Formats: sequence, structure tokens, C-alpha cells
Amino acid sequence: MSEESKINLLNFDYEALEKFVESLGEKKFRAKQIMKWIYQFGVTDFAEMTNIKRDLQVKLSEIAYIKAPEIKVQNNSADGTIKWALDAGDGQLIETVYIPDGDRATLCVSTQVGCAVNCAFCATGAQGYNRNLKTSEIIGQVWRATSCIGFTPNPKLRAIDNVVLMGMGEPLFNLDNVVPAMKIMLDDLGFGLSKRRVTISTAGVVPNIDKLGDMIDVALAISLHAPNDELRTKLVPLNERYNIKSILDAVARYVSKSNANSGRVTIEYVLLAGVNDSPKQAKELAKTLANTPCKINLIPFNPHQDSSFKKPSIEAVNKFYQVLIDHGFTVVTRKTRGDDIKAACGQLVGEVKNKMKKIARFTSNEVLE
Ligand code: SAH
Ligand code: SF4
Repeated sequence: MSEESKINLLNFDYEALEKFVESLGEKKFRAKQIMKWIYQFGVTDFAEMTNIKRDLQVKLSEIAYIKAPEIKVQNNSADGTIKWALDAGDGQLIETVYIPDGDRATLCVSTQVGCAVNCAFCATGAQGYNRNLKTSEIIGQVWRATSCIGFTPNPKLRAIDNVVLMGMGEPLFNLDNVVPAMKIMLDDLGFGLSKRRVTISTAGVVPNIDKLGDMIDVALAISLHAPNDELRTKLVPLNERYNIKSILDAVARYVSKSNANSGRVTIEYVLLAGVNDSPKQAKELAKTLANTPCKINLIPFNPHQDSSFKKPSIEAVNKFYQVLIDHGFTVVTRKTRGDDIKAACGQLVGEVKNKMKKIARFTSNEVLE
């Protein structure tokens, strides 16, 4: 059997893997064994799965395989950040970023080849959109990064204890693949991450925030970027469909269902010099968020060649921060990491081929429903 007609087991969360082994006439516990080999020991060759009987090893290797996307390029930043460009087939590349910070490390994962939302300030958006990533390609990024860092503790590189779906793409347009991948991140037989340490970030796809809440409990981050609809629509075109009020209402519904958020959501706000960074806009933001339990993450704009927006001054960032603090909010200004290797927020471009046209992208049901 050629690899194309075989099944990549990285596409299966635990439940699906159990069904798969049962379909082979095997007992459920085989799924547990396979899952542990893949995600806890990094084993991809069935012949090395020593507690699995030989005939089953052979059967598995005839119909299935285990493969994460291959690394095409690795860039190391002076600050310890590592960016990998991974092969998504057909000449497409997706990017994954490892960000060590003190005794923790975060992995920033991509969910689509490019992005159709086309936010005014984002390099990924400027790249256009090609397709959704498969579950195997999403969890495969965590697997691949872990294999570089070491499945067994590595004194030089921190293990990944935090995953953010903040790489290329809009995760809520790819729920069918993103949710099983997040289930594997949380599963004790998988990467065993805490649900508070798996964060999905969205530009605000309202119906899918509700769907997400019915499917899984993880931390939610909303990319707001503006205190009012008029400005937000200019920055995030999706706001025409789902305005700020509809997003904040969906957030309230999500947070009431979720434990992972400890009752509050993260609001991301990219600060763009002279566009959305004035103290007056900070006050307006405080008013807009007055009834939304949240912590605010300020992200100074990271420049890139596809955008004429400018980084805000340190003074502007500090003033904006202080206004929100004075209104009683918890606020964090995100440190810029890995910008020397274009690995910072909004700088991920990968390689997106055969893009859908902009208008088609924005009106296509496939990407917007
Ligand atoms: N599509 C999702 C997740 C990926 S983007 C979303 O938009 O939420 C992750 C975060 O990076 C978002 O908050 C996004 O607005 C921000 N971002 C995009 N471009 C940026 C840039 N050039 N500088 C700083 N942050 C940026
Ligand atoms: Fe897409 Fe997020 Fe970039 Fe907007 S900010 S274009 S939603 S990746």
C-alpha cells in the first residue's frame, strides 16, 4: 500500500484511535499503548512498540503510518526563540514558533495555510489563504517541536507546557481539525497539557465560538484591536459580519461554560501607532469591556514588509496600559520575541501557493461559515 492510501494515525484523537483499533478486531487498550508510544516516547515505527504483538505491528504498518510535517528550515533567534518552517506538501510551508521564557516554554502553532480573514496589519493575512491544516499537521507541529527539544527532559531546552493557536490561520474556521488536535494536547496519553495552557485565539467567528464551547474546554483569546466597530471593521474585515457586541456576547456564553478560563477571557489588542493607541481610545476600550471579565494583552505592532503600519512608541504603550490599569483591568504588554528571525506575532508567512482570490476568500462559504 502506498503512503497516500494509508492512514496517518496523527489524525486520530484518543476516541478515534480506539474506534480504529476496534475496527481491526483489537481490544481498546491497544489505542492507549499506541497513543503513549507516539506522544510520550516519540516513536513512529510500529516495530519499536515493544508491548504490541508482532502480528499487530505488521498489520498496522500495512494500513497506517505516523508522520508529522518535516522541517524545511529552522531559524534560531538570539533570544532563544526557534522558528520552524514545516512542509505542508505542494510547496507550501507553515510556521511554528518555540518561545522559551524563564522556566516555561510556549509553542505557537499554525492552523491554516495562510489566512482568509485578511486583517490590515497581519503578514499572514497578506499572504492569502490556501487550505485548512489537517489534525495530523496541527498536532504534528507539537510532535515535531517536541522531537527537536527532546521527548525526554532536556537540560538545555524547556519542555513545551503551553500551546497557543496563534500562528498562521484562523483556528475557528478549522474546528473539525483543530478540536481533535487540542484533545490530544490535553489528553494524559497525549501531551497532557493543562486546559488553561492551551489557548485558541480568534478574530471573532461568533457561531464557532459557541460550537467550540460545546466541543472542548480550553482558554479563549479574542483579537479585538479596536474599541469601536467603525475602526475594528477597518482593521479586521470580519467585523462587518460579527461586530464587537456579538463577539462579547459569545464570549460571555463561552466563559460561563468553561473552567479553563477561570471566568475571564484574554483580549488581544495590537497597538498600531497613531491608529488605535491613544489614551482616548484606551478609555473607550475600558468602556467597551466594562462588562466583560477579561485580562488584556497589549501587543505592540511587529512591522513587516506587507504593511505600512508603525510600531507605537514606548510612551504610547505605557500610557495606554496605565489608562486600562486605572480602570481596574489586568493588563500585560506582550514582550516581542523572535523578531530578528520574523517569528514574532503577525510576522509568520510560510509559503502559500495557489491562493484563493481576495474577494473569493472573503465571501467563500468554505472559509466563512
Ligand atoms: N487568526 C487568529 C490567530 C492568529 S493571529 C487571530 O487573529 O486571533 C495571533 C495574534 O497575532 C492575533 O491577536 C493577531 O491580531 C496578532 N497579530 C497579527 N499581526 C500582527 C503584527 N503584525 N504585530 C503584532 N501582532 C499581530
Ligand atoms: Fe488571520 Fe489572525 Fe492574521 Fe487576522 S490576525 S489575518 S485572523 S492570522
